Amino acid sequence: MSKGLPEFGTINVSEERAVPFGAVTPAPVNEQELFITSNWRIIRPVIDHEKCTRCLNCYIFCPDACWLYNEETNMMELNLKYCKGCLICVNECPPNALTEVPELDFEDGVVRLEKPF
Ligand code: SF4
Ligand code: SF4
Repeated sequence: MSKGLPEFGTINVSEERAVPFGAVTPAPVNEQELFITSNWRIIRPVIDHEKCTRCLNCYIFCPDACWLYNEETNMMELNLKYCKGCLICVNECPPNALTEVPELDFEDGVVRLEKPF
């Protein structure tokens, strides 16, 4: 145990760095390149802007902070670089504006491999 430091749970930290249990942990506000999703994602959300009510549930629930509200366009924007395909946003979207699609489905066609490589 370090001398002169208060004890918080089982970890000794200085008072200015202590965070109460259950509190929000401050996180960097910029994009963190280390957290970019690799090519293992197999499914991703797609938004129907006509159905979206801008309730911000996707923004609140996404564990990877992928959703942003664009004030200029009045639309939700998805940063796919960090999306892990967990589909929490799809489950939390009240008007079902979000649907899931296989990773390799694109607007102008479906990309499918004939056999695994
Ligand atoms: S699928 Fe998961 S990681 Fe991707 S935007 Fe939705 S909640 Fe975020
Ligand atoms: S949860 Fe659905 S309705 Fe709400 S802002 Fe996101 S996409 Fe739009």
